[in-house]
Amino acid sequence: MKKIILSTLLVFALGACAKGAPREKPLVVASFYPLAHFAEQIVGDKMEVVSIIEAGSEPHAFEPSPSDVAKISQADLLVYNGAGLDFWAEKLSKKLDHKLKMADQVDLIGENAKDPHIWLSIKNAEIEVEKIAQKVMEIDPENKAFYQENLENYMQKLQNLDQKYQDELRDCELDLIITSHEAFAYLARDYGFEQIGVKGVFAENEPSIKDLEKISNLIKDREIKYIFAEELVSPKISETLAQDYNLEVLVLNPLPNFERGYLETMEENLANLKKGVLCQ
Ligand SMILES: [Zn+2]
Repeated sequence: MKKIILSTLLVFALGACAKGAPREKPLVVASFYPLAHFAEQIVGDKMEVVSIIEAGSEPHAFEPSPSDVAKISQADLLVYNGAGLDFWAEKLSKKLDHKLKMADQVDLIGENAKDPHIWLSIKNAEIEVEKIAQKVMEIDPENKAFYQENLENYMQKLQNLDQKYQDELRDCELDLIITSHEAFAYLARDYGFEQIGVKGVFAENEPSIKDLEKISNLIKDREIKYIFAEELVSPKISETLAQDYNLEVLVLNPLPNFERGYLETMEENLANLKKGVLCQ
């Protein structure tokens, strides 16, 4: 009995990183890279930020390793997406004091299965950044002014980007894009166009013959000239369609990476989008 109590206490002490061995900086763990990137914009060098799914990995089929699980248990703040993208984070968040589930902060698209690609709406990104800042200030009130200033700076950049999207997508001939997987419903909603994905909402699904027929008909009827592919999803189907219908393949990237942050990635996406929907 004594042994059990002792080991329970030990686990507790390690988990909470209690007295004796405090970490130098509070630890923010994000389930995947876009949320880590947002957290970094707020915390600067005042906190350590890690992402469980690293940039360059496709998040839909990810399973955490035991060391990922250990890392999450040490988090002072866990930030995760929800809506089925990182279901494992939901489970592992239960014991943590500070956590933020983005799917609870925004209006979700989708009836039965909710669409997890929340961060691809710039307006949602603004909400995510603001919620992260609130939590960070709760955890470390001493540096509140620093976080507040970072928040205001980054918010301004996001608002400028949103305005740029609104301005530059105003006069366009098409209101439909064909993507590889349906990651852009939130972005499409914000700027008034429609997306059809050859792979559905989850990147690993293969399209049925019926899906492909539907897409082929759309390409012909709507005189589509471009098809969108992304860096982390096999371009095979998009390329086949492109060959069959003489389309040009453009990149629309749902995930920022280490070289290009969110703003840069979304700028590149805008340039290709404008081309794809034939804007003035
Ligand atoms: Zn996706």
